[in-house]
Amino acid sequence: MNRRQFLENSGAVASALVIGRHLARAAGGDPFTGPFTLGVASGEPSADGFILWTRLAPAPLAPDGLGGMAEPVAVMWEVATDDTMRSIVRSGTVEADSRLAHSVHVEVSGLAPARPYWYRFTALGQQSPIGRARTAPAPNARPDRMRFAFASCSNYEIGYFSAYRHLAAEDADLVLFLGDYIYESTYPAAVADRLVRKHDGPTATDLVGYRNRYALYRTDADLRALHASATCLMTWDDHEVENDYANEWSENMRVSPEDFLRRRAAAYQAYYEHMPVRARAMPQGAALRLYDRYRYGDLATFFVLDGRQYRSKQPCEVPPSRRGHVAQDDCVERIDPQRSFLGFDQERWLFDGFQGNDTAWNVLAQGQLVAQLRQKARTGEVGHWTDGWDGFPASRQRVLDAMTATRLRNPVFIGGDIHSFWATDLKADFNDPASATVATEFVGTSITSEPPPYELFQQLIPENPHVRYFESRHRGYVAVDLDRDRMETRLQIISERRDPAATVSTLKRFVVESGKAGVLPG
Ligand code: FE
Ligand code: CA
Repeated sequence: MNRRQFLENSGAVASALVIGRHLARAAGGDPFTGPFTLGVASGEPSADGFILWTRLAPAPLAPDGLGGMAEPVAVMWEVATDDTMRSIVRSGTVEADSRLAHSVHVEVSGLAPARPYWYRFTALGQQSPIGRARTAPAPNARPDRMRFAFASCSNYEIGYFSAYRHLAAEDADLVLFLGDYIYESTYPAAVADRLVRKHDGPTATDLVGYRNRYALYRTDADLRALHASATCLMTWDDHEVENDYANEWSENMRVSPEDFLRRRAAAYQAYYEHMPVRARAMPQGAALRLYDRYRYGDLATFFVLDGRQYRSKQPCEVPPSRRGHVAQDDCVERIDPQRSFLGFDQERWLFDGFQGNDTAWNVLAQGQLVAQLRQKARTGEVGHWTDGWDGFPASRQRVLDAMTATRLRNPVFIGGDIHSFWATDLKADFNDPASATVATEFVGTSITSEPPPYELFQQLIPENPHVRYFESRHRGYVAVDLDRDRMETRLQIISERRDPAATVSTLKRFVVESGKAGVLPG
């Protein structure tokens, strides 16, 4: 019995709708009250469990960053097989304290594979709303299909999170957040007329600043409803810390690595405190191990990659800034094989994971556009953008070569960062359009963030024939239906980011056929 049959038989679809309606009422009578203003979340599904998360914050934006909490508090958690929490199958109590901002990360195990569960927390005499989580199929199971969806770049100030609301309604087995989940920076007052709402304070640079930024984003009803209804995988891009940072290097060359690592440690800690990730991600100083792989029966493996923490310094920096720019071909540092986008440890881990992998599809979830993009800066330079994979082409080549060498089945990259939709054929040699397509790529547009200029990028497409589609004029997300023979990708767009009640529609569909890398019309 596959998951969909199971759901139909068990009436879980109806239950999911009940939860959806329950959360939809949040706009009127907010169920996320008392200590549970930041909602509940689940993540990192395995065949027998998942991570459950909440953070107690009765005053979510308290100036000390502690959400109105002080003393340690016992938090009870319960997992049930029904949406009314009558049949409780797992429960326990954990302590929340101020060291991790009264956040709770519960690693639930011993559950049955490939089915929904419902959960809630109890603390300070109050119950949280009921969330829904899903376990993955058993490692050797043969699921017929699954649906996943991915999102990136949700700037709170520049738009409402309608795309998150519609994404929740996809009822996806898995939701992937691919970075720029928050924006550390705050728009200057000069552009206030373009904003629909304001950040809680100025640009975040310390633990209080980052904590309250996450707290603000999590008070958004659409984002809370998405987390309460879906199980997710998380990776990050730059704005969880600072625009265009690389490893220990700030975009500002005047900031020393030592000072920047202090800021990064604060940002990573706040990230951990707000995400449904397991204890192995608990930050050690300025280090947080996020990359990992997740198996969905024999249908798919999700490799979740970290493109920021371990990367080499941006090439050919232009003082006093290290931020991304279009580097011309005389920048030989860019193509230096000693440089890496993932760091050499993560590259090795990834290639080990390719070896002997037997799943029908392999999804590489990461932050940025992978394909080469020969582009022209507004200032006239022709070359490659240094802050993305194009700043590290030798590293990209090693990944693509390893896929080919290990005969990894049906590799598909998904990404974000560039605030526009892209569908690309990843070539064995980008400088030879006739070379084989070895992998496929889909990049999702932003949930709200400002797009790049459409005309400027549209002009580049003829010079980059491996780019099969580009569109920057819409905000939205991407939904993917995967079965054993094909992958169908739907580009979903909202009507207007300034409208809190924006509607959704399908802009475009693409297909990838098993055994044949490359983008096909849907
Ligand atoms: Fe972004
Ligand atoms: Ca970014």
